[in-house]
Amino acid sequence: MQAPKAIIIGSGIAGMSTAIRLAVQGFEVSVFEANAYPGGKLSVFEKDGFRFDAGPSLFTQPQNIEELFALAQEPIEEYFQYESVEVACRYFFENGKSVTAYTDIQKYATELQTQLNEKPESLQRYLTAAANLYQRIGIIFLDFSLHKFGTWFHQRIFRALGTVRFSYLFQSMNAHNRKQFKSAEAVQIFNRYATYNGSNPYKAPGMLSVIPHLEQNQGTFYPTGGMISITNALYQLALKKGVQFIFNTKVTSIQEKNGRMEGVMAQDQFYPAPIVVSNADVYFTYQHLLNNASKAKQLLKLERSSSALIFYWGIRHTFQQLGLHNILFGRQYEAEFKHLFETHTLIDDPTVYINITSKLEAAHAPDGHENWFVMINAPANKGQDWQGLRTAARKSIIEKINRMLGVDLESMIVSESIMDPVMIEQQTGSFMGSLYGTSSNNVFAAFLRPANFTSQIKGLYFCGGTVHPGGGIPLCMKSAAITAQLIQSDNIHLFK
Ligand SMILES: Cc1cc2nc3c(=O)[nH]c(=O)nc-3n(C[C@H](O)[C@H](O)[C@H](O)COP(=O)(O)OP(=O)(O)OC[C@H]3O[C@@H](n4cnc5c(N)ncnc54)[C@H](O)[C@@H]3O)c2cc1C
Repeated sequence: MQAPKAIIIGSGIAGMSTAIRLAVQGFEVSVFEANAYPGGKLSVFEKDGFRFDAGPSLFTQPQNIEELFALAQEPIEEYFQYESVEVACRYFFENGKSVTAYTDIQKYATELQTQLNEKPESLQRYLTAAANLYQRIGIIFLDFSLHKFGTWFHQRIFRALGTVRFSYLFQSMNAHNRKQFKSAEAVQIFNRYATYNGSNPYKAPGMLSVIPHLEQNQGTFYPTGGMISITNALYQLALKKGVQFIFNTKVTSIQEKNGRMEGVMAQDQFYPAPIVVSNADVYFTYQHLLNNASKAKQLLKLERSSSALIFYWGIRHTFQQLGLHNILFGRQYEAEFKHLFETHTLIDDPTVYINITSKLEAAHAPDGHENWFVMINAPANKGQDWQGLRTAARKSIIEKINRMLGVDLESMIVSESIMDPVMIEQQTGSFMGSLYGTSSNNVFAAFLRPANFTSQIKGLYFCGGTVHPGGGIPLCMKSAAITAQLIQSDNIHLFK
């Protein structure tokens, strides 16, 4: 019997993970990718002797990748290596305080006590609660489709929801954190985790306090070779499992007949398949590939997550006080989020994130230099004057770094590339340049995020950061697992 065909639209991290899982299930899998390279947002470039990961820089939950290799019965060590890092992040405040967030919890608790006068028990209590929350409820939300009747009646969901404290569901993350820590700086550090899925800690529910569990309890990691090694490993694994990649080929429509999947159109050619998985932004999938304007309009009601403005700077200097991940906090954190989500612009003193992989791999920058990935959160694109915003942001970021690190940064910048929300949309097909699909700025966000399937068209599925369970590498990989599981249980007949 010939293997049934499955087509994946997009080779983002979720698209490739789904492709591998379906190949293991026995499908003949083809991945259509608009770009010339795999990985979507997880790409790399080199300029003037510096090497930069273009998108994600923080790697957590390597077990998702381990699981994929185990499933494919391939030795991960031949494709992918990673190490745990001792410091999750170095935080700097304008009042001169600084905090090193060690991944060793005892050490971190002592640091918070020394620098911010926080009781060591506060951190321990917070992280234990986050771990419990993850065990009780996170796992269920992240490992199952919330939109299948069966899951809802999964006993664990009822049990878990019943045990969640009121404050996690109905208080903002900021309100929750203010009860846990007494210093404004510690609250700001823990509020920051809302940005890991592009949300506002003053609106998003306390439930998001589960995120530090991933970074602090489970650990922070660095893939040898940089984040692009994740893309490369999944791409090689997919090839090994027989997945075919068709690059530089944009799918222009998804074809269905009488509510059943027929295939896709790309470059004026029809490619038949009973199973199609879209890893493209779900809004674009409905609007352009399915021509379903009313569903697309409905999706527009969901608030988009934030985007980013990134400066990739080659720096002629080495900074002893900086590590792999660094944050220079803005002075008006709440106002910063109002700018992002209410007035859709940038504050003049933004929180600045600096990622420097040459701290771990010297070859990523010439001798005596560092490769700086400098990112600030930006509003999703609504047609703002990005040229003007980029110029203003560059000035305020450099002034901030000069002020806080006591340098003249401009004179040290020897290479520069810039990415803004419009470019993110152009390069990765993310609607409005949002990094994480929809935001989690309300209690019901997890339930409102689009499903991994549609009951309107049998054989059509969705994976990636714009659908359940959400954006970020770990969640995208979980969306692939959920989608592949749904495909397996829905389509046993294809293998008979
Ligand atoms: C600047 C930045 C920083 C980030 N930082 C982090 C971080 O530190 N940690 C973290 O975990 N996450 C981070 N993220 C988020 C993370 O990168 C994303 O959630 C994740 O990579 C999204 O993967 P995806 O599978 O949804 O697909 P995407 O990466 O969005 O890729 C989708 C692919 O589909 C292709 N495509 C779209 N339409 C079509 C079509 N019609 N035909 C063919 N191909 C099509 C696109 O070309 C693209 O390659 C960051 C993102 C960005 C941009």
